[in-house]
Amino acid sequence: MPDRAGVDAVKARVAQLVAAYPPATTPPEEFWAAQYDAGLAWVQFPEGLGGLGLDPRLQMPVDEALRAAGAPSNVLRNFMGVGMAGPTINAWACADLKHRLLRPLFSCEEIWCQLFSEPGAGSDVANLSTMAVRDGDDWVVNGQKVWTTLAHIARWGLLLARTDPDAPKHAGLSYFIVDMTAPGVEVRPLRQITGDAEFNEVFFTDVRIPDAHRLGEVGQGWQVAVTTLMNERLALSGLTMTKRGSGPISNAVRLWRETGRSDPALRDALLQTWIETEVIRLTATRAKASLERGTPGPENSTTKLAMALNQQRIWELCMQLAGPSALLIDSYEMTQPTLMGGDGGALDDSDDAEITYCYLVSRGTSIGGGTTDVMRNILGERVLGLPGEPRVDKESSWRLSPR
Ligand SMILES: Cc1cc2nc3c(=O)[nH]c(=O)nc-3n(C[C@H](O)[C@H](O)[C@H](O)COP(=O)(O)OP(=O)(O)OC[C@H]3O[C@@H](n4cnc5c(N)ncnc54)[C@H](O)[C@@H]3O)c2cc1C
Repeated sequence: MPDRAGVDAVKARVAQLVAAYPPATTPPEEFWAAQYDAGLAWVQFPEGLGGLGLDPRLQMPVDEALRAAGAPSNVLRNFMGVGMAGPTINAWACADLKHRLLRPLFSCEEIWCQLFSEPGAGSDVANLSTMAVRDGDDWVVNGQKVWTTLAHIARWGLLLARTDPDAPKHAGLSYFIVDMTAPGVEVRPLRQITGDAEFNEVFFTDVRIPDAHRLGEVGQGWQVAVTTLMNERLALSGLTMTKRGSGPISNAVRLWRETGRSDPALRDALLQTWIETEVIRLTATRAKASLERGTPGPENSTTKLAMALNQQRIWELCMQLAGPSALLIDSYEMTQPTLMGGDGGALDDSDDAEITYCYLVSRGTSIGGGTTDVMRNILGERVLGLPGEPRVDKESSWRLSPR
């Protein structure tokens, strides 16, 4: 852990911030902008860009102190921005782009989305088909993305596109920041099992992106995408890092008490799930605390995998505890939420009527951000050093890859 003096110094900065911008009376966007200006957005980022150039592990005491002071969290409001785009821009963008993009990203004035998955490329995202062709100082993009969370409100998107179809699939990709309001970008809602249309299909027809909005070299898109994906897993697993016994598991405990169930099998299930939740919370906390370079590695797939299955178990248990009434759904009207997990911040909502909704939302946790099967492959190969899957198309031209 960083030394005590470092922790005290960042906590003092948090105290100054909340004194100048009392969370109870400051609009959230204004608070987040002030947090950025104070260097408390990502403490490891450079000064003037939301950070203080400090050890990344100091972000944890900052976040704890902010939470204790009742400060709002921007994570669900702009998950793809704060959790994924911010660290990717810091690692790969030029100074001009960093200055233009990071502050409105953190203040949530500008929402972000991630344009990786395609109808023919999900787990095997390196196999994607959306093309970007160079034309003077621009790139011209054509293709289709899918499952793009919050694309309907996004100002910017993280786009992975193919710039060299003759190169092997990983080597022919480049990474761009695309203006979602540009001519030729069309966003169509996709209705989910809850009725919400949180994610979308996105179509690109001759969309022009300036070359200045490319991150990394031409053909280096896969390496940039790995930065985004590792940060996505870290951010997803970070969603569990609430206080002991709080978050979704508190619903199961509350329901157990309220329904006065005497079934010993359900009691065992509740205890087992509570213990598992606490172990995952502590593991996620330790993983974050041990981040030394600020760049998460494949180990984060452990907490992403465990968290996804744990969330599903908790909400399944809540459904059992709530009984048959939990099967009733009030409304299946299509709505387009402005937050991940619904506008109610549903993943840890304590309202009974939300139990069914949360149960349905949790079905996707083992798919979004990489499926559990893919997480197991990554852990097996890159953490445990087990033999890799046979990958016959790794070296040959993408044109020959099976699709
Ligand atoms: C809630 C939610 C939000 C999402 N938001 C976004 C977003 O904002 N942006 C974005 O780009 N994408 C997003 N996605 C898409 C997500 O990344 C993909 O759904 C995911 O990567 C899986 O791809 P796929 O759906 O094409 O399934 P496939 O890749 O077609 O997989 C189908 C099945 O095969 C299994 N499988 C595939 N390959 C292997 C393998 N090598 N070994 C073992 N099993 C395998 C999978 O585990 C799965 O069970 C989101 C998904 C969800 C559920």
